[in-house]
Amino acid sequence: MQRVIFLVDMNAFFISCEMTRNQDLVGRPAAVAGDPKKRTGIILAANYEAREYGVKTAMVLHEAKKLCPDMVLVPPDHGFYESMSKRVMTILNRYTPIIEQNSIDEAWLDMTGCESLFGKPSKAAQGIMDSIRGELGLWCSIGISENRFLAKMASEMKKPLGITELWREEIQYKLWPLPVSSMYGIGRQTAVKLKGLGIETIGDLAVFNRQTLEEKLGKYGVQLSNLANGLDDSQVIPHNRGEMKSIGRSTTLPEDITDIEQAKRVLMLLCEEIGAEARKYGKKGRTVQLTIKYGNFQSITRQTTFKPTYLTREIYGAGLKLLEKNWDANKPVRLLGVSLSGFFSDCEMDQISLFNCGGGERGSEKEERLERAMDAIRRKHGYRTVGRAALMSYKRER
Ligand SMILES: [Mg+2]
Repeated sequence: MQRVIFLVDMNAFFISCEMTRNQDLVGRPAAVAGDPKKRTGIILAANYEAREYGVKTAMVLHEAKKLCPDMVLVPPDHGFYESMSKRVMTILNRYTPIIEQNSIDEAWLDMTGCESLFGKPSKAAQGIMDSIRGELGLWCSIGISENRFLAKMASEMKKPLGITELWREEIQYKLWPLPVSSMYGIGRQTAVKLKGLGIETIGDLAVFNRQTLEEKLGKYGVQLSNLANGLDDSQVIPHNRGEMKSIGRSTTLPEDITDIEQAKRVLMLLCEEIGAEARKYGKKGRTVQLTIKYGNFQSITRQTTFKPTYLTREIYGAGLKLLEKNWDANKPVRLLGVSLSGFFSDCEMDQISLFNCGGGERGSEKEERLERAMDAIRRKHGYRTVGRAALMSYKRER
């Protein structure tokens, strides 16, 4: 049976979530931005009105403000976006149980054999889009194909509110003319390498000598050649959504970076959000994992274990050690991710505190009070009203 795979991608997700609860943002340029008070903040998501001025995701705040001075900025509220994301997934779950979430705002669906239930793929997709729009007030684009790669590429072709089919027999005229840099799985560095071989479009890549690709890029080169030819037999793997096993955050960087100081700032933001969520749910974890994805899409994950904590400073400290140990200034980084896992049960927690009543404990109790106070103020007055002076501590370390 022909496989049928959808990729449902939410349009301008964070800011669209905000627009559902704040009518003032509707019909005027607005964006969710990392830290509106600091020039170092970046645009996390701009609505379509702001995009008309050239504002883009990951743009530095002061550049975006130059393009669109009247843009309204909203601080991020990840808890809210997570809850909206769950509601989107609940709607998707009515169509198929085989859902693989790729990020907070997109997921693959295996819709193979669903035609008798929901009609042709395009009709099923329209149903999904209408449900999400009608019930949540959010927009999405949907790509339809026979595998994950082509579905993902299709979802990018028409935004917002696009439904695009891209079957293998159509790739020569729908996929091949696109620049190779727009291909899912190709980072900026790889695009440069491929250009060096004279490969400009996905079509160039598809017909390029595979052996040369393998020599230049190893197995990854062969994989890219397959993808460019529309071949991808990877499965949609559903996640089980059981008890909270880890709290993680990751972000694709505005540009591939080689400067560790930049990476540290991003790491701090991620750790602050993880810490706040961990404290909210009372989850102390003993494992911090760092993911670094490079410009060539290869990635490494490294982890470390310590005394269970939900303190931002300790999570960041562990993440920082991993970052410094594994930083290679010659390898541009595209994405950073951090997670906290290995949560202790309350019972285990009691045992730990029984054995751990030495001098160090009082300091961290005080710190916990401080971080919790910050959480409370942020809940009341917005996320970034209380700063951790993250940048100050970098300066000290340097
Ligand atoms: Mg997306």
